[in-house]
Parts: sequence; C-alpha cells; structure tokens
Amino acid sequence: MKSRDEIRVEGLQERLLRAVARTDSIRLAGLERASVLEQAKAGALRRERARLAEKHGENDASVRVAERRLATSARLRAELTAEVGAARIQPPKVGAGRFVVYGRVVDSRRRPLRDETVEALGDDGAVAGTDRTAADGSFAIEVDAPRSGATAPPASERLKSADAGAGAAPPGVRLRVAAPDGKVVHEDVSAQPRVSGTAAYREVVLRTGGGPEREGPSPPVGPWHSVRGSVYHNNPDCGTGNNIEEENVREGTGGKPLCRECTGLNRAAAP
Ligand SMILES: [Zn+2]
Repeated sequence: MKSRDEIRVEGLQERLLRAVARTDSIRLAGLERASVLEQAKAGALRRERARLAEKHGENDASVRVAERRLATSARLRAELTAEVGAARIQPPKVGAGRFVVYGRVVDSRRRPLRDETVEALGDDGAVAGTDRTAADGSFAIEVDAPRSGATAPPASERLKSADAGAGAAPPGVRLRVAAPDGKVVHEDVSAQPRVSGTAAYREVVLRTGGGPEREGPSPPVGPWHSVRGSVYHNNPDCGTGNNIEEENVREGTGGKPLCRECTGLNRAAAP
C-alpha cells in the first residue's frame, strides 16, 4: 500500500513530466523542474524505506519493494540529468555552403566526458575538422557542404572517394573520437550527409569511456531549496538537498547561499 506522501509526490511527478512534453522552448526548464522533483521523490522514498525497515525489519518484503522503487527513481534521475545536459547545448547557426555536426560525448551513464578529441572524417577518411570536448562534453565541428541545389560532391572529393559515383549522395561526415591519451575510442561506421546550412546533433556514447578518475559527483542542475532551510542546493548528489520533505521543496535559490555539501560536490565534478 502506498503512503499518502508517496501518492502526493507521484501526482507532482506526473504533472511535471507532462510539462516536459510540451514545446522545445520550455523543454529545458521542464526537464530541470522534473529533475528537482525527482530528487524530492527520492528523499521521500528513502524516508519510506527507513520507516518500513524500522516497523517490519530489514528483511521484510516491503523494504525490498521500497528499494526497487528507489532504484527506479535513481535511474530516472540519471536520465533526467543527462537530458538536461543535452538540452543545454544550443544548436549553432550555420551559413550556406557549410555544415555543422555538434553535440556531446558521454560515458555509458550519459555523463559528459571532457578533453575527448572529436574528428569529423570526410568520405575519403581524411580529417575535415576537429574539436575537443568542453567540461559539459560538448563539441561542434564546421565543415564544407554543397550549397543547396547542388547534389554532386566537389570533383576533388569525388575523385578521392572510393565508391561515390558522379551525382551520388552529397559528401558525408563520420565522427571519430579519441580519449585524452590519444586512443581512438569511437568511430562511426556510416556517414551522415552534409546538408548545406544545417546542423546535426550527435550524442556519442562511449561504452568503454571514463576511467575510475572520471567516476564522481554529477555536475550542478537547476537550483532548489527548502522553505524551512537557510541554503539552496544545485547538486543532484547532495544528501541534504535530497532529504527535504517534498512539501517544502521550492525551485530557485530562494535568495539563500549555496549549501556547503553542494559546493563541495560541484567542485569535485568541475574540470
Ligand atoms: Zn546541497
């Protein structure tokens, strides 16, 4: 049976996740709100687990159920944090005759990876452009593209390309990613077309990426605070921030200083 607290938190979650589904312009704000509320929900679930363990004992089935719900919540929070990170990356402006491939490099848990070298390879395998990922895992590489209306690749590329016939598809681009130690950790199998005047978003997930030194606290998210507290929080891993009773959670800083635990977590997560 669900406690009244749980039901109330779930109702809030539903409303917020519906808000996320609306337009792109409010997508980021919606995701950040959902992320904050999911943190509040996790706090409520942790208290519920403790209450059940106290009442029925650590080995009771109800405690296992509460733990499964906590695990689900943790997965949803990780996913929301990743979506917030992706939504924060703005599409670049692209001129005619140019094409931009931009996006993020992330680890298997969709946490941003910095200092990865991203190369855009032309159809001939030569490097057409390169960038290094920032702290948020972002990169953007601008390359030449046929102007709109043109369908054939430039003669130089056509000659170098092994299998492209005259008037074939526009030149493509493949991404290759090298770790800070220079080791190639990803290379696209298929090319995507360079469409003049457009940008294409790519999220490169490195299954093998991220050594132990990269395992660490999450980067900050949209701020929240407790109406009863003297500080605000912005790190999804903050224990204090996650244990605010959900009826006291508010968005924003509330004009309060940043919590010390969050400050430390943000510093640890920073480049
Ligand atoms: Zn905090």
